[in-house]
Amino acid sequence: MPAMVVAVGLHKYFGNFHALDEVSLEIQHGEVLCIIGPSGSGKSTLLRCINQLERIDSGAVWIDDELVGFRQEGDKLYELNDAEIARQRLSSGMVFQRFNLFAHMTVLENIIEGPVIVQKRAKSAVIPEALALLERVGLKDKQHAYPSELSGGQQQRIAIARALAMKPKLMLFDEPTSALDPELVSEVLAVMRDLANSGMTMIVVTHELGFAREVAHRVVFMDQGRIIETGPPQQVLNNP
Ligand code: ADP
Ligand code: ADP
Repeated sequence: MPAMVVAVGLHKYFGNFHALDEVSLEIQHGEVLCIIGPSGSGKSTLLRCINQLERIDSGAVWIDDELVGFRQEGDKLYELNDAEIARQRLSSGMVFQRFNLFAHMTVLENIIEGPVIVQKRAKSAVIPEALALLERVGLKDKQHAYPSELSGGQQQRIAIARALAMKPKLMLFDEPTSALDPELVSEVLAVMRDLANSGMTMIVVTHELGFAREVAHRVVFMDQGRIIETGPPQQVLNNP
């Protein structure tokens, strides 16, 4: 089986600033990869390039054997337009540092919004799935609450459920616990650990080294836009 994500020779500039410098990476199906490194080293930019929130300047990314940003017809490649990129982006679910829930929608409405409005699936099919996801993140009793009534940890668990409702092939996490009060971090990490155990392919940018040590199959250390080291957690986390 080909890798879930293949990134080859990625470069990204912001003006003259070289944010990604020849980054190559493969993530297998079901693999959990943690990306660590100092602030500003390009971790977030790498995630954003993988799911096309940022354009890469050179290099290429394949997700599940599909070349990102292009459509192939015969032996010709066509660049995707914005709407097509948005559709392709649905193959990965992304969870950000800030929860990004819709404030005017209930928890349940937040979760079904993507499948119903974007994927145009029937509400009657989506609602039972959404309730099952809420159960999975331990928040079924909050289905009618609004985000402002929830703690940061609860909101982030809802954000994970909302991403999963779109049935992504992989999940990208960009410092999902960095904005949380310390006592709320573990409930979010527990949901992520369950997800990892269920076989989801995950790329997690995090400062939670305990999580990386226990859950990651592989850890990537980035500095100044480059991958400095890749290996099992015991190896990478013991050579800081
Ligand atoms: P990390 O996630 O490792 O903290 P980022 O990928 O967020 O690092 O950022 C890498 C560098 O690129 C930082 O110096 C940041 O300021 C810069 N950067 C990120 N996004 C932009 C942007 N849209 N425009 C200009 N500079 C950016
Ligand atoms: P993160 O929490 O991922 O490190 P940042 O604070 O670095 O987030 O960036 C938040 C947003 O601002 C991102 O969309 C990033 O691309 C953008 N950004 C970061 N640095 C710069 C910059 N120097 N100039 C313009 N945009 C930036």
